[in-house]
Amino acid sequence: MKLYTVEHQGETLVCLEIAAGVLARLPYATMNDLLREDELDRCEVLAEAMESSDLLDLRDVRVLAPIPEPMQDVICLGMNYQKHKTEAEQFDAQAFTREKGSAVYFSKRATHCPGPGTPIPGHFDIVDSLDYETELAVILGKDAVNVAEEDAFDYVFGYTIVNDVSARNLQTGHKQWYFGKGLDGFTPMGPCIVTKDAFAQPPAQAIRTWINGELRQDAVTDQLIFGIPHIIHELSQGMTLKAGTVIATGTPAGVGMGFDPPKFLKRGDVVRCEIEGIGVLENTVE
Ligand code: MG
Repeated sequence: MKLYTVEHQGETLVCLEIAAGVLARLPYATMNDLLREDELDRCEVLAEAMESSDLLDLRDVRVLAPIPEPMQDVICLGMNYQKHKTEAEQFDAQAFTREKGSAVYFSKRATHCPGPGTPIPGHFDIVDSLDYETELAVILGKDAVNVAEEDAFDYVFGYTIVNDVSARNLQTGHKQWYFGKGLDGFTPMGPCIVTKDAFAQPPAQAIRTWINGELRQDAVTDQLIFGIPHIIHELSQGMTLKAGTVIATGTPAGVGMGFDPPKFLKRGDVVRCEIEGIGVLENTVE
């Protein structure tokens, strides 16, 4: 199943795609309300929507980020694909070399997530090295506390695409990555949430990025160093992961800083992020 947040005639709607390009409105004001809903009640609502006659055409709406305003900062994994870890270390060994054996976690301020087609603000007054990172994002559908690895997927509601836009100068110029990853508009998300039943566990979907039509990233989402069960198990020990939590699982090799010389983004560049089965998240830098 695919779920969308859309704008239609000035209204923001949460919708379920019940057939290709056909949306049924759901009785939730926001996707966060859906994610916080009791699981059984939510299933009932989704089943009822399949029978709905209150339908919209996907071509007649403006697709927003599925979660335009996450309830909390997005949790991110750093250097979670081997080849990307290598390219990051080559770019700046001091900033990116980490102890072996443990996951790198950080959080990303996501005050408002741009959806497909919404420009990415470059913040070029303070940014000289703007970069893209296409990532599979996991969305939790119930509160997770002390979750065993084998139970981790019970807590996953679905998946979307997040572009973990990064200002490398701010990321490497401060001890923490928070500022360089958390500027306004740096968390494009979309186009939809695909429920977990659509994919294998773990998902093994092609993940790709094109910049102005040039293929830059090309990998598969089951190549994570620390997989989804590990992440949910480890973080939920002593830390409640609330329903609605968004976890960006890391980006593959091929980001701008991985090239010599680096290929950073500039105004007017078109960033196309794609994950097989979820769709395309395309934004222009402004
Ligand atoms: Mg990232």
